[in-house]
Amino acid sequence: MQDFWFRLITPIAFSALFALLLWGIFSAIPALLFMLLVLMIVMARHGRQLYKLGQWLNDARLETIPEAGGIWDELFSQLYRMVKQLNQAEQGLAAELQHIEQATAALPEGVAILNEANRIEWCNPLAQMHFSLDIERDLMQDITYLVRQPEFIEYLHASNFSEPLVMKPARHDDMLLSIKLIPYGGNKRLLISRDITQLERIEAMRRDFVANVSHELRTPLTVVSGFVENLQDMPDISKENARRALQLMAEQTRRMDNLVADLLTLSRLENDQNPLREEIVDMGVLLNEIYQDGQMLSGGSHALRLEVLGNTKLLGNREELRSAFGNLLSNAIRYTPPGGAISLRWAERDGQPVFSVRDSGIGIDAQHIPRLTERFYRVDRSRSRETGGTGLGLAIVKHIAIRHQARLEVLSEEGKGSSFTLVFPTRRQMTDDR
Ligand code: ADP
Repeated sequence: MQDFWFRLITPIAFSALFALLLWGIFSAIPALLFMLLVLMIVMARHGRQLYKLGQWLNDARLETIPEAGGIWDELFSQLYRMVKQLNQAEQGLAAELQHIEQATAALPEGVAILNEANRIEWCNPLAQMHFSLDIERDLMQDITYLVRQPEFIEYLHASNFSEPLVMKPARHDDMLLSIKLIPYGGNKRLLISRDITQLERIEAMRRDFVANVSHELRTPLTVVSGFVENLQDMPDISKENARRALQLMAEQTRRMDNLVADLLTLSRLENDQNPLREEIVDMGVLLNEIYQDGQMLSGGSHALRLEVLGNTKLLGNREELRSAFGNLLSNAIRYTPPGGAISLRWAERDGQPVFSVRDSGIGIDAQHIPRLTERFYRVDRSRSRETGGTGLGLAIVKHIAIRHQARLEVLSEEGKGSSFTLVFPTRRQMTDDR
């Protein structure tokens, strides 16, 4: 500060001394004229710097700050430091803001801030998607004009938000949203929206599955308990009738047993904690075993053929492969009338190991093919049951295929026959000499 006054006054003080000297040598007039000239020059210089400062303040950028000498140099240097600090603070704030924006964009939930009049003050991209909002256009709009479902408006005007609202958004009717309002900061509210479509689908699948299993078990249980009651009520039943009843009961018990076994296999295959234990499997040996099992199951009613070509070593789990191939062959036998032909084939297609079962059986109408691997999906319910099917065979095959990164291909024509093919990735093929 002292320095400032010293630098401001020094030239004027020196000029005044010089003016006094002039006064002493000449007279008052030249001294006053000199002093007037000096003050005018000083004023003009300060005026010029003030003008520059005024101009610069119109668009205060660091790189255009004016250059000056004397006391103005000090002033502009201070201004330069101030603007620089401000710029740095602004950049810091912008970076923080960007971080917050990135964090809210990455949130797995939609978030919108509503004011006391339900106007949207801010929302993240997911909230824009859930409610079909356009942030440029809809900011500070009343949300009840944009989301018009009556249940939503009712929820917004209610005072109890402890339970979320579940609703379908207007423009995505295949989506299900769970919506929650959280009041905060006096009169503001956070609107949180969560996409629960997948959760709801899994829940529906679980409900269907429980209903299906109960239904599958109910029929054999009803048969068995009916026979048991009959046997109790008829102590003098003939030996022949009792034998027939016991035979039918044994059949139903076997059915339940098969169902429980298939359910356990499926749950083991679906268990994430049960990774695939790999080994090198000799397909020649495995397919021979499966072929023998097929001969027994068919009881000589079908013409069975086995063809094993090329490299026979596959990296996979022997028991799982046996179960998948066995299921496909048992289906071919069960859905091919006596006298039909069934062929098992192991070969290479475009460098990929391929297993296929082809039959000349009843075939499948094209509309059913995409759903065959769903649990309990059957084209002909009674035929499946009569032949001891559980409706889970192809679901098991699909899971085993997934665990081996294989693809299941189904080709079929009603009345002509079907072919089920498992295409394995090339990397599972092992060299024969290993
Ligand atoms: P299922 O125990 O009923 O055979 P799967 O899951 O093995 O259950 O098969 C599902 C359905 O696919 C069967 O009910 C049957 O309608 C059909 N299917 C499977 N394999 C064949 C085949 N080789 N020929 C005709 N239909 C088949």
